[in-house]
Amino acid sequence: MVVKRSILERVLAFIYPERCCCCGKPVACGSVVCEACRPELHRITPPVCPMCGRGDGECGCGRHKRHTDRCVAPFYYSGAAKSALHRLKFGGKEYVAEMFALAMEQTVIREYRTVKFDCVTAVPLSLSVQKARKYNQSVLLAKRLSSLLGITYRDLLIKQCETIPQRELPAFRRSGNVLGVFDVALQDIESMESGFNVLLVDDTVTTGATLDECAKMLKLYGAKYVYAVTATASRLPDDS
Ligand SMILES: [Zn+2]
Ligand SMILES: [Zn+2]
Repeated sequence: MVVKRSILERVLAFIYPERCCCCGKPVACGSVVCEACRPELHRITPPVCPMCGRGDGECGCGRHKRHTDRCVAPFYYSGAAKSALHRLKFGGKEYVAEMFALAMEQTVIREYRTVKFDCVTAVPLSLSVQKARKYNQSVLLAKRLSSLLGITYRDLLIKQCETIPQRELPAFRRSGNVLGVFDVALQDIESMESGFNVLLVDDTVTTGATLDECAKMLKLYGAKYVYAVTATASRLPDDS
């Protein structure tokens, strides 16, 4: 994966070498992933499940109906993509969002090309987690993606209370863990005309419980369709 750089960016990259998004080693100017990590990025390629967006043999959703109309992701949550996501989420490496947003843009264009989105929004963090992490990785991804796609970003959701991180729970407890924890940002959502379509962004999806709970609230407040895109998707429902 190579990104075009201006002359100023090239000079800055010479002084401050760019780093591989996945392992942190220096890379050539304009590269975002090193030679060793590139084959370890496990891309999700078509045909994908029309519900959960995983490839052949990796879908565990059973095509059950959810509040989220569809979900897609460019990478599986494994190998170098898993490392990159950890660096974004827990390592303070905000620049990793760029690599994921570019890949998510391609996936959205490929899978949702017939959908007209009114806005992009992100799965929120609770105030205490956001304060500790300094940023919400899903908002970083969503804002970058919104500018790549030319669709307005809006903070439509609020996380009302702290929950146990989903990754620490077995699959069967995850829906209950997020039940009722999200609300809408009333002023923002009331400015939308009823029947709007949302592109909902999160960093990763496992069972889809978090996205589903967010989509439920968005639809309660007038969304017609909620399509989700995440940076990564687990290979199996309880993989992470
Ligand atoms: Zn690397
Ligand atoms: Zn599926």
